[in-house]
Amino acid sequence: MDLSRELTALAAEPSDEEKPVVSLTLDTRWRDEAQRRRVAVYVRDECRSARDRYQPRSRAAAAVEEATRRIERWAAEMVGAAGDVAGVALFASPPRGLWREIRTSVALPPSFAVTPAPLLSPLAQLADRSEPVLLVLCDRRGGTVWESRLGEPLLSLALSRPAARRMKMAGWRQRSAQRRWNEQREQGQADLSLLVGNLFDRAGRPAVILAGPPDQVGALRGKLPRRVQEQLLPDLHLPAGTAQSRVLAAATRAIARAARGREQEEVARIVGEALGAGGRAVIGPADVVLATMEGRVKRLLVERGAAIAGWHCKACDAVGTKAAAGCPYCGGPTETRDLSEELVRRVIRAGGEAAVIDGGARLAHFDGVAALLRPGSGSAPVGWVQQEA
Ligand SMILES: [Zn+2]
Repeated sequence: MDLSRELTALAAEPSDEEKPVVSLTLDTRWRDEAQRRRVAVYVRDECRSARDRYQPRSRAAAAVEEATRRIERWAAEMVGAAGDVAGVALFASPPRGLWREIRTSVALPPSFAVTPAPLLSPLAQLADRSEPVLLVLCDRRGGTVWESRLGEPLLSLALSRPAARRMKMAGWRQRSAQRRWNEQREQGQADLSLLVGNLFDRAGRPAVILAGPPDQVGALRGKLPRRVQEQLLPDLHLPAGTAQSRVLAAATRAIARAARGREQEEVARIVGEALGAGGRAVIGPADVVLATMEGRVKRLLVERGAAIAGWHCKACDAVGTKAAAGCPYCGGPTETRDLSEELVRRVIRAGGEAAVIDGGARLAHFDGVAALLRPGSGSAPVGWVQQEA
């Protein structure tokens, strides 16, 4: 599953109040029966209250009715089924012919919304986790390499040489067996290193995690090509024979940790850029909304759960932050709106990237939004006003 392609397709759906979209995310890690029940009850209650909110006999109500009935049947089936996906996102709107189910191996916090366009923010939380990662599990006889996205294993290749058995032997026989055993181990590591190098190039320089007993991880690390060594995340030290599901779960957590670290670094970089003279970035709602309206945003960062107070013009679809009686662009009527989802949708639609992140204190200080601008689209200094000729 290519998340950025999914997000782009969903962002292209027009905003249409008569054809509302139900957007739903769920945590489907079935740790126990109670979790299945919680999910079933959550979906049923949300569907009911969505139906209650709509005027009977309106076109939108008919659409919500059909979508939620279908979602209830779908949820009942999913909750009853075996399966080990951790998260599900669903977008449904029968009048548009839209029914898109996205399964992830990363849990998604439960959310349910009926809106004029698909709600992208809950899915944009995964944007930074969608880069491919190579996970290399070392063992005595070689190892296994997984290529994965969003914690979802896409491909797994095992490399295993027949193990030379270590036997109790005396004198020269033992020394020669030991030597053979060492040679085979060396060869196994060399083969594994070659495989990792090939997959690394094919996947476009992904992050790489080495897992396994510390001595085997250390020995493999020394044999990896330099370009791979530069992309290593911290090792996962696991005892030999750790179950595959545990290895993958530990790797998923490590990937999330690494993504958080990268996000914090990126926020620091963007804030520095915005405060510096380069003008390649903007921070805070007013400047970010303006840059988004002008299609200048290359990459948008929004703090998870940030509320950005603003208005939306029903006539010309403009958005802005400063309270206004009418739209400053067309004079049309405005409605107040939380702009965080608007920004995510507009940036993706314009071909930019949007990530909903845990930006920490630094991003919160700027009301939870920052953006990197497209090259050559520099921002105007504060207080600068364009003079009409
Ligand atoms: Zn307007």
